[in-house]
Parts: sequence; C-alpha cells; structure tokens
Amino acid sequence: MQDATQIAGGDLSGGCACGAARYRVSRAPIFVNNCHCRRCQVQTGSTSVVNMFVEAESVDLLSGTLSEHVVKAGSGGDHIICRCTACGTALWSYYPRLGRLGAGVRVGTLDDPARVKLDAVIFTASKMPWTALPEDIPCFEATYSPAELLPPDRLSRLEALIAQRAAGGG
Ligand SMILES: [Zn+2]
Ligand SMILES: [Zn+2]
Repeated sequence: MQDATQIAGGDLSGGCACGAARYRVSRAPIFVNNCHCRRCQVQTGSTSVVNMFVEAESVDLLSGTLSEHVVKAGSGGDHIICRCTACGTALWSYYPRLGRLGAGVRVGTLDDPARVKLDAVIFTASKMPWTALPEDIPCFEATYSPAELLPPDRLSRLEALIAQRAAGGG
C-alpha cells in the first residue's frame, strides 16, 4: 500500500549555490506557501519566498555544513535560518510555531522545484505591485487556517507537530 506521505517520483533533493551543502527530503510536504510578507522580501531580497513545510526529521543534510542565523518572525519569536557555511544560501528555516520539529525548506533550492505543488499564496497585501498572482491557487491577504485548506492526512501531520511542540518538543 502506498504511504500518503511518500513523494511522487521519490525523494526530493536539493542544495546550495556553491554545491557544498546537499540535502534530501523523504516525506511529501505538509503544506507549501508562497509568502509575500515584508520580512520574507527583506530576507530574500526578492518578491517573496516559497517554503515547503515538512517534519524536520525527514530532512537529511548529506554534505556540507550549515550556520544558523536568527531573525524575528512575525509573531515576535525566533525564526532560525540555516545557511550553507561556505556560500550563505538559505536552505531551510525553523519557525517559532513548530520550532525544530518542522523545517520550512526553501523550494528554490530543490533540484527540481516544479515537483512541488503550491498550496497557497499568503500576505498578498504586501506584494510588490507588479507581481502577478496565480488564478488557480488560493491567495490570501494575510494567512489562512490550515483546517480549511489542507486535506485530512496533511492536517493531521501538522496537528501532530503542533501537539509535540505544545508538549515541550522542538
Ligand atoms: Zn554553499
Ligand atoms: Zn513571509
């Protein structure tokens, strides 16, 4: 029987710009957001960021080393950005809500980003005025409730991480 958390076509792989840091993701994303908030714009120097959230234990660093950089998240908590020590490319982040239990992997660092399907575009209220939004993907001025968007199997994975976090994990 196929495990619903498996990724169609096998594990996802990715890496940094210099090639020193390589990683593999072995579970399908819980959710994938394209975020146009001002913090993401500053952190990336671009219009927005695309993050896929997955259980951190399913993300393996295969080579290279990472350095951690702490900035403030929208909630005021610590947002930890993990970057290749050699070239500084941001590979994934830990956000306050899930801590180190959940990784927000930067989809642009995947070898084949097109294999990941976007669930939502968020914080469109602060998008750059000439940025076009997709018509076939839900867009939100700020955030959304995962319960109204995610299928039950993915929602239950998110809820499990939130419960672990509430119990002191991460
Ligand atoms: Zn690098
Ligand atoms: Zn953002």
